[in-house]
Amino acid sequence: MQRRAERLIPGGVDSPVRAFRAVGGDAPFLERAEGAYLYDVDGNRYIDYFGSWGPMILGHAAPAVIEAVRDAAGRSTSFGASTGAEAELAQLVIDAVPSIEKLRFVSSGTEAVMSAIRVARAFTGRKRIVKFEGCYHGHSDALLVKAGSGVATLGIPGSAGIPVETTQFTTALRYNDLEEVETLFARHPGEVACVILEPVVGNAGTILPDEGFLQGLRAITEREGALLIFDEVMTGFRLALGGAQEIFGITPDLTTLGKIIGGGLPVGAFGGRAEIMDQLAPLGPVYQAGTLSGNPLAMAAGIATLNALHTGGPEFYRNLAKVTARIADGVAAVAEDLGIPITTNRIGSMFTWFFRDSSGSDIVRDFDDAARSDTARFGHFHRAMLERGVWLPPSQYEAAFVSAVHGEVEIAATIAAAKDSLAALTGELHVPSASSLAL
Ligand SMILES: *Cc1c(COP(=O)(O)O)cnc(C)c1O
Repeated sequence: MQRRAERLIPGGVDSPVRAFRAVGGDAPFLERAEGAYLYDVDGNRYIDYFGSWGPMILGHAAPAVIEAVRDAAGRSTSFGASTGAEAELAQLVIDAVPSIEKLRFVSSGTEAVMSAIRVARAFTGRKRIVKFEGCYHGHSDALLVKAGSGVATLGIPGSAGIPVETTQFTTALRYNDLEEVETLFARHPGEVACVILEPVVGNAGTILPDEGFLQGLRAITEREGALLIFDEVMTGFRLALGGAQEIFGITPDLTTLGKIIGGGLPVGAFGGRAEIMDQLAPLGPVYQAGTLSGNPLAMAAGIATLNALHTGGPEFYRNLAKVTARIADGVAAVAEDLGIPITTNRIGSMFTWFFRDSSGSDIVRDFDDAARSDTARFGHFHRAMLERGVWLPPSQYEAAFVSAVHGEVEIAATIAAAKDSLAALTGELHVPSASSLAL
């Protein structure tokens, strides 16, 4: 199956992060998934810790979502004209994220961020954008600068095919370093349209903002007349109904969303203050469009998902965080017992086990820290876990996700698998099939 795909599709994949280049071996081909489990074409079952890279917070094939999509599909897969479902999903988002007064739907996170940047530039009449190393904001040209996971995993500096002229107004600064932000603003007064970041980084592995970092960015951007954009494509509805901005109590000017708000169908959204969003055509001069934007199947899946999250409320997120803590800290404790240096970063239902190399510090608070991880060791661990029925994201630089249907059984099975896998790393136990562990 892999060879056939490779003949027809570059690398056999439609997104490079799906290839197991960083961890070795071929990625299994999947046939179906249900709840917390993935099933491959060879009949193997895996506990899922990547959740389709974020969207599957309710678990796979959640009955309410499937029913909503089936129902919508029966009434046509696309209209290219407005439906009530768009306003319904918009309302569910706006009710949860108070900084968003108006929003527009698109079909991916990449599109959402690209469009938010365009609006920010138009609104401020400025060109320059500031981002942070290790933050991924989709694969659009101007943002593919020091962009974390995919590019970091493959060791590609940005990407070929992007003229330097396209990124000349993009500056990537060190995450959690307000001084660099001050310096940049001092050097380019009145030129910065926006500062964009993942308020909690997921795309360099999980990295939390230092206390005061987000507050500092809010204060600086306000003082300088630049917009603050929270890219919550990953954290939106993942960390809380109101995303990271709710947890940290910051009001950004614009927010980008994706992943969870589509319930596993292709959806992105960008939104914020009405006066900014009203720059968009047909009201204003900023052109932005999409044939399948607000697609009825995608809206239906999003509505069913967000309804479930609204119903679950804070209790839902508290439970999710509890289960996540038991898994993340449980495995970390096993590693510690075995003398394997791991740094566990976690928040809500996102976590990363950073395998530190001997020179690494024991905190990971920016991309350089993350990049000092022992990726070979992570690769061995990943493969060992996969062989024991646990599917972790296939890169050291990706956050793992826990869903609402991960429970006691999965906690116990994951810790047991990690015990074996980590012991195999220390050479204390024999690995079942050592040959396939080779990178
Ligand atoms: C996944 C992601 C994107 C890109 O979304 P796509 O739907 O893959 O285009 C943008 N920003 C962040 C923070 C993401 O995690």
